[in-house]
Parts: sequence; C-alpha cells; structure tokens
Amino acid sequence: MFDPTLETLPAERLRALQLRKLQALAGELLAHNTFIRRKWSAAGLRGASDLRTWDDFSRLPLTLKSEFVADQAEHPPFGRNLTYPPERYVRLHQTSGSSGPPIRWLDTQESWEWWARCWGFVLRGAGITPVDRVFFPFSFGLFIGFWAGFEGARALGAMVLPGGGQDSPTRLAWMEKLAATALVCTPSYALHLLEVAREHGVDPAKLPVRVTVHAGEPGAGIPAVRARIEEGWGARAYDHAGMTEMGAYGFECAEQAGLHVNESEFIAEVIDPAGGAPAQEGELVLTNLGRAGSPAIRYRTGDRVRVANAPCACGRTFLRLAGGILGRLDDMLIVRGVNVFPSAIEGIVRRFTAIEEFQVEVFRDGELDEVRVLVEVEDARVADTLRRTFSVDLGIRLDVRAVPPRSLPRHELKAKRVVRLR
Ligand SMILES: [Zn+2]
Repeated sequence: MFDPTLETLPAERLRALQLRKLQALAGELLAHNTFIRRKWSAAGLRGASDLRTWDDFSRLPLTLKSEFVADQAEHPPFGRNLTYPPERYVRLHQTSGSSGPPIRWLDTQESWEWWARCWGFVLRGAGITPVDRVFFPFSFGLFIGFWAGFEGARALGAMVLPGGGQDSPTRLAWMEKLAATALVCTPSYALHLLEVAREHGVDPAKLPVRVTVHAGEPGAGIPAVRARIEEGWGARAYDHAGMTEMGAYGFECAEQAGLHVNESEFIAEVIDPAGGAPAQEGELVLTNLGRAGSPAIRYRTGDRVRVANAPCACGRTFLRLAGGILGRLDDMLIVRGVNVFPSAIEGIVRRFTAIEEFQVEVFRDGELDEVRVLVEVEDARVADTLRRTFSVDLGIRLDVRAVPPRSLPRHELKAKRVVRLR
C-alpha cells in the first residue's frame, strides 16, 4: 500500500478524517473563493461553522459541469473557482471535451503535489515500487492524466521514462532498450501498441513489462478488454479513474475487484441521477479534499457506478466500486427501449480476437437511437457470430458490418469509438 495507515482506517475514523479536512477546506473557500461563496451562500451556508456534521454536508448544493463551463465563459479564461490570486498557480490543464465544451483547470504547488500523491496510491495499488521503470508513451499536452501519473511515479520513487514525440514502433524499441517494467497509457493505446508490435514482428509478452496501468477510458475495467491487454503484454492490467476537474480518485488493488476510491483525499457519494437520493447504483458524486486552490465540491461526475458491499480481500477499507466505471450517463444509448452503454458493446466485441478495431455508429431513426457496429475483420462470418452474440447477451439486435482491416481510426489518448451520425 502507498499509505497503509490511511488505507486501512476503520470506517468511523475515515469519516472523521474526511469531515476535519472538509471543515478546514470550507473555511479557506468561504474566505477567498467567489464561485463557492456565491453558491454556498445561495444555499444558506454563511460560515465554515455551519458545516459541522454529515447532514450539513448533504445540504451543500451539488455542482454540475455546466456551471464551470458557464463560469469560464463569463469570466475567461479561468473562471472564478479560484481561491488564490493567479500568481499562486503553477500548472494549467484542460478537459478533453469528450463530454461537452472543454474546461480549464489550474493547480497550485500544493495541489500539484497532492495530484502526485494521489497517483502514488494508484501506482502502488498496481504493485509498482521504486525498483520499477515506468514508461509513458504520451506526448505532453493539456490533458492532465499522464502528466499527473508522471509526477506520481516520481513521488513513488520509481524511474520515469518519457515516451513523448515518438511513433509507436520507436516506443516499443525504447521500452525494450530501457527495460521498462511498467506501462501507463489509455487501454486503447495499449491495444494499439500490441497491433503495431505484431506488424513489426515483436512479441510484447517477451518485453520486461509486468504491469500496465490504464486511465482516460473505462476499458481496463471491462473484462474482455483487460484479458486482451494482459494476454498480449504478458502483464497484469490495472484500471484507474480520474478527472481533470476532480483528481486521481480511483484505483485497483491486486485483487482487481473493482475500483477503490481514495477516501483519504475524496468524499464519494452515489445518487439516483433522477431524484438525487442516495443509491447503491447510480451517479458518482465526488468532493476533493486536497485541492484548495481549485476545488470541486459535491461534483456530479456523470459516471454510473455500483457500490460493492463486501470488504475487499486486500484489507483496504476504502469504498469499492464493483466493475469500475460502468459507463457515462450521457453516453447511454436507448435502442428500441433497451439501455445500452457503449462499454457493454465493447465488452462483447473484445471477446473476438479476430476483431482488431471497431466503431459504433449511432443515428436517429425517428425518435429512436439506432446502432450500427463496424468491425475490422477479414472473415465476414465473424460479424455474423458477433451479431448473434449481441442478441443473446444484450437482448437486442444490432446491425454489424465488417470493414477492411486498418480502415478505422486508432487512438493515442481517449478513444472516440461512438460516432453520432445526423
Ligand atoms: Zn482491494
């Protein structure tokens, strides 16, 4: 574990720790953060002393991404969710824009160190230690994910190997030359590297990589995707969840039994997205406790999750989300009355090893979503089998079409496999 004391705190002490951190944070925010002060005073909260219990916390208003978008549009370029003057901030990142307009996010020295520490839990959870050499096949831009992972590997004391500005074959060659033992990237890119390796006659399972850690997409939490990555790389693949506006909050342990939420740094709630009542399965709502300069309090993540009730065999007391992130609420498709997450489609497609890449086309047929799945495969009979598997496993018929190999886009960062046609 990264911090064995915190990760095994009894529930009561964990809750007390969260409340203490929250109260200290609230005082700072009410004094200096215009966005929070306006929001909270509209809800009747005047001072940090009004925030004494969990009941008080549950009366704090929820925060929607659209509020940050509107605030930044009205007060460009960074909006008003800033607790300190601009000179205190040292890093800028931006969301990918995969769900709505991109938003910018600033970090201070303290909150950037906090990010690194949070990633320490993620990498240590995946079994990475100071003897590891961690490769980041990533060109550093505005996307926060691997910048923070990079800092996290350093915080952990591992050797960090930057793989930016290289094409995929060069990256494979460097991983071999530098004896990288861990790989951190999106699940899509891990799969793409496997494909490139095969084309170049390289067997990634023979490389010293023993652990892969994946962020940016839910892929590594989908059993068929994980299996394909693990088999191809001869390594264990770990899922991780984080958000630019929130932090690196979710990680897997050696049990690989869903995502743990780092409750020493985040408060997690699961609500019914319709009414807002607490739920076992629903939308994940998060509060970060270590990012005073640019906080997100009771933030609706838009991610669908399910709470696991049994304690994890690893001994951590942190909340566990069974199956990781089940899907984005705004990605959910309704096909002839049946709710389908694209991740469920991917979970089936990835069982077919003959299919290298795929794309989901969504179009409106009157008032209904219709879905067509394009699969790169040489043998058209595979498409027929896939069509039958969708019928059996999802309970709906989906149109499946075989397309030529290498005809669909490849992805280094977040994959965009769902395409909405007009
Ligand atoms: Zn565990």
